[in-house]
Amino acid sequence: MAHEPPHTMGQQHGRRSWAEPWKIKMVEPLAVTTREERAAALVEAGYNTFLLRSRDVYIDLLTDSGTSAMSDRQWAGMMLGDEAYAGSRNFYNLEAAVQRFYGYRHIVPTHQGRGAEHLISQTLIKPGDHVPGNMYFTTTRLHQELAGATFHDVIIDEAHDPESLHPFKGNMDLAKLGALIDEVGADRIPYVSLAGTVNMAGGQPVSMANVRALRALCDRHGLRLLLDATRMVENALFIQEREDGYGDMPIAAILREFCSHTDGAWMSAKKDNLVNIGGWLAVNDDAVFEELRNLVVVYEGLHTYGGMAGRDMEALAIGIEESVQDEHVRSRVGQVRYLGELLTEWGIPIVQPVGGHAIFLDARRFYPHLEQDLFPAQTLAAELYLDSGIRSMERGIASAGRDPETGDHHRPKLELTRLTIPRRVYTQAHMDVVAESVKACHDARDSARGLRMVYEPKYLRFFQARFEPIS
Ligand SMILES: *Cc1c(COP(=O)(O)O)cnc(C)c1O
Repeated sequence: MAHEPPHTMGQQHGRRSWAEPWKIKMVEPLAVTTREERAAALVEAGYNTFLLRSRDVYIDLLTDSGTSAMSDRQWAGMMLGDEAYAGSRNFYNLEAAVQRFYGYRHIVPTHQGRGAEHLISQTLIKPGDHVPGNMYFTTTRLHQELAGATFHDVIIDEAHDPESLHPFKGNMDLAKLGALIDEVGADRIPYVSLAGTVNMAGGQPVSMANVRALRALCDRHGLRLLLDATRMVENALFIQEREDGYGDMPIAAILREFCSHTDGAWMSAKKDNLVNIGGWLAVNDDAVFEELRNLVVVYEGLHTYGGMAGRDMEALAIGIEESVQDEHVRSRVGQVRYLGELLTEWGIPIVQPVGGHAIFLDARRFYPHLEQDLFPAQTLAAELYLDSGIRSMERGIASAGRDPETGDHHRPKLELTRLTIPRRVYTQAHMDVVAESVKACHDARDSARGLRMVYEPKYLRFFQARFEPIS
């Protein structure tokens, strides 16, 4: 019973509701707008939800990045900021927390995840190298490409199928990886880039068996294995629920075991780690650490703050400890699952199984009459905002960008609109409101006409692109 999704807990004994394992100590009022106001805001934002002002948003499901609510303990920690330029005591607390819960030897703090990605890419990648990964993440792949590498997606095929019920759709396909090693040679692969969970596949987990096998393969070829640990805590819950032998193991122990199969990790602490800003990079190798500790000074700040204030590092150290508590993780993923179950019940197409941090609406099946060049997922995000003021984001053709060689759109199989749930921020009642608004858009789906892109930035275009409705 301990590992059932929270909202079904105890149902065999009659109705026993689940509730969030926290109570509210401070509130932030939500903006309620009219449909006319939302229509005007959409025009001003070029139909891109990234360009909306948050004051015009009711329930903000744009991202789970930096949007968590901190605990009273974390806020108390903010008062203990040691704002020394060098050797802040908060850094040593952060270092100890990463070592204790993730198990790596050396820590480099960074201002957020992409700062860490930049440092590791510049340190390990040489022009002409190849980096294999399980699907890709926007900033991760971009930093690898900017350092001169070609990225190769070696995730299992099931990850690209939104209807596949594979329990570990984030797994690497070892045959694809093996073929790449044969093709380019292990000496052109600076590291294998493993992410748990896989955001772009719908928050899908990697199994312990997969990372173990991957480790063995990497050892045979002398390859480094690095982890994008951004949502690895959520990944650990899926291992606890779905993988034989882990049902009784605490999340914290599963996390440590998983990380022990890798040589290092980068982290966007704005996700799992429950802070509004921050990141870190961790490695076991002494020589690589030397290099990173030197480079961080150039781009982020001294190696004992890396772009964070002392108070931010203290909140992060406490956040790490809170983030691995079983009650917390179960409630966090359970809330996402609750929303997913409502939508599934109502016949709305979403990526299955429901992942750890978000619901991904399948815009291809939602709007079967819209071809991908009409930006169906972007269209759905705009329609949802217009209906209720709920902000979501596109994860489809706009996010995928263009092939740097041919200049053509990447055309991802997955054309998704993401409803991302911030941690410890919204209640189950908010999830009901979200589900009802998605249903209203689904009921009106035949009238959607799609969008055309009228402004396209060069890098990570989805953030700032502008669109106009097709009339
Ligand atoms: C957010 C994210 C990053 C980048 O981190 P930032 O803190 O946004 O710079 C890297 N990888 C994954 C999987 C992420 O979700």
